[in-house]
Amino acid sequence: MDYLKVRCFHCKGEFELYNRNMNYDDKPPRCPHCLKKMDKTQWERLINAYYTFAEVNKNFRKYHEDRGEPLFQVELRSYFVKPEKIMIED
Ligand SMILES: [Zn+2]
Repeated sequence: MDYLKVRCFHCKGEFELYNRNMNYDDKPPRCPHCLKKMDKTQWERLINAYYTFAEVNKNFRKYHEDRGEPLFQVELRSYFVKPEKIMIED
């Protein structure tokens, strides 16, 4: 089961988006905690990225089953740090 974990930087809340939530016809999601709405263009790009990513993992499983290829499952994680918080030491 693939799903996305979304962090809202307005309220610092988190919520999940599942397959059933990923439809182009649906309105962009709102944060369930503070009701901020996602931008429509970014929402559509997120759906594209989600399906591309899910397809790669599905193919890893399929080709492992069918052809004995090595099995991998990949998870994308993001941790946002403001640029001014990154300490570069030389
Ligand atoms: Zn929020």
